[in-house]
Amino acid sequence: MIVQIQNISKKFKNGTTALSNVNFSVDRGEFVSVIGPSGAGKTTLFRILNGAERADSGRVIINEKHLESTKGKARRMIQKNIGTVYQDFALVENISCIHNVLSACLPDMTFIPAVLGIFGKERNTEAESLLNLVGLADKVNEPVKNLSGGQKQRVAIARALMRRPSVLLADEPVASLDPITGRQILELISSIRKTQGLTVLMNSHNLQFSLEFSSRIIGLRSGITVFDGAPEDITPLIISAIYGSSADISDIQEAAL
Ligand code: ADP
Repeated sequence: MIVQIQNISKKFKNGTTALSNVNFSVDRGEFVSVIGPSGAGKTTLFRILNGAERADSGRVIINEKHLESTKGKARRMIQKNIGTVYQDFALVENISCIHNVLSACLPDMTFIPAVLGIFGKERNTEAESLLNLVGLADKVNEPVKNLSGGQKQRVAIARALMRRPSVLLADEPVASLDPITGRQILELISSIRKTQGLTVLMNSHNLQFSLEFSSRIIGLRSGITVFDGAPEDITPLIISAIYGSSADISDIQEAAL
């Protein structure tokens, strides 16, 4: 198992319980979508997975290593296994695509080369080949601000892959994109998963895309796992259990598009 979430709970200081005893394990190579209504705890779960947030209790085991009980450099080494892409791309607009990709290496570099932006030939070659992989070979030196939304998400994917993660966390990766571009990005993520042996965990509001691209769906509602199974086992009843009794698949798909 590449990711193990064991009895994870999280309550915020204002008293909101975001996650209650969440349990699941993800095998290498799976494409898992976490779905659920707004406020279900999806973002909190992803933030705990990539180390941005700590759970109150439970265990997060990435590649056999315990994230929750680790600090400092050891924690950063575990976090290196996880690359994240975000809805808003989180890129630096004024610098080139290749520099955005290279910036992923900063945590691994010593102070002076990091400050001076001396990444070295090997890293530059790797960054270029990743930009090639995501279909941006002709945009290597282009400032990110000149790119379309879909191209920006491609740069963000290349940056996430730069530290050779085992797991790609895709947090609403297509929410800022039109449906056609969104589909192309998910096709890219799917193909990279196959060719690079990557595991993908996605959080998406777009139920149709989640059902289409994932090998497994985890349904969260009010911080509780209410479904864990194959997309083909999702029924209208399960949709109601996840999204609320008044929801049906067509409503949710319309809302998502
Ligand atoms: P989702 O991503 O499924 O929309 P979130 O993980 O963002 O859900 O939020 C889960 C619950 O936790 C919500 O009720 C939200 O308001 C609350 N929450 C999220 N972050 C914080 C925070 N930093 N402080 C207090 N409450 C939070």
